[in-house]
Amino acid sequence: MMQSFSTDAILLRRIEYGDYDLIVSYFTRSMGKLSVIAKNAKKSVRRFAGALDPFVSMNIECSWPKRKGGLPVLNCVDIQNPFARIRTNTAKTGYASYWLEIISSWMEEKKPDEALYELVFHVLESLNAGIIPMEVLSVLFQIRFMGISGFTPNLMGCGQCGLPIDDIRQNRITFDVVAGRLVCDRCSANILGNLEKRTYSFNENEEVSDLNEKVSDYSTVYSKLYSTSYLATSSTASLKSHSPALNLKNPLGRKIAVSKGTLKQLSWMSSTDIKLAERLKFSRTAVKEGENLLEGFIPCHIGRNMKSLKFLHRIRNPEILSLKL
Ligand SMILES: [Zn+2]
Repeated sequence: MMQSFSTDAILLRRIEYGDYDLIVSYFTRSMGKLSVIAKNAKKSVRRFAGALDPFVSMNIECSWPKRKGGLPVLNCVDIQNPFARIRTNTAKTGYASYWLEIISSWMEEKKPDEALYELVFHVLESLNAGIIPMEVLSVLFQIRFMGISGFTPNLMGCGQCGLPIDDIRQNRITFDVVAGRLVCDRCSANILGNLEKRTYSFNENEEVSDLNEKVSDYSTVYSKLYSTSYLATSSTASLKSHSPALNLKNPLGRKIAVSKGTLKQLSWMSSTDIKLAERLKFSRTAVKEGENLLEGFIPCHIGRNMKSLKFLHRIRNPEILSLKL
């Protein structure tokens, strides 16, 4: 008899496989990222009704494959939370897609990380409930994701000379996205003295130019986010060994100014109890600075351009759309 297993799981993406089947990629509690095959899922809609949509959290039961190297076969699913209010809201979809793309890019197959699973579940639940602003949840998710994954940059002092932020003269301190560190004014002056001055430009229009859909054409973007490039991503198995900023079309080789207050809030948010952390009051500037820093640094560190981040930028900056269309 074939052996089976079950685990809690959040659906990351799915792709069509042949005429009848789907390959479904999950973030599972007990096995990390896991790809399984849902046989006849395309043909028999009823069998997995409502359970093959993105963000749905469920318990899955699968059989191990008969032959070595095959994918486990999805036998049945038990929906825990459909998170339906995420899927029916464009901005929430944008945020959840970005978080899950980070997970999908970062996690390796079958390497469990229960703390990360709990974090993802928590932010999806909170996003679905809609009490905490989604921008704050996104900052919370990103800062804690870095903490759990062990690559939080030092946000309390200059990464070059170690000067604590309280002793740095400027109120807004430069964060070097590519190097992943703060640089105080004295060190910046030294670096600029040594290196040829290079102009960093970040062109939002360029950043989003390869997504041609209107944001209002939600279903197109949606299917684009979930149905493509499975093979491309699954073949990059060891993303963690990539050098930061390599292979990126737009390497985001840029520096960001972040105020001391925001840096302190981010540090506090990364270490305190999660229920307290998400209730932290952020000013509009602090949220913007926090998002800029994290959305610049994380993709750079992982070594991936995130499609969902482009989508998110378009949602946040509708004026970019009107220029283009
Ligand atoms: Zn310094």
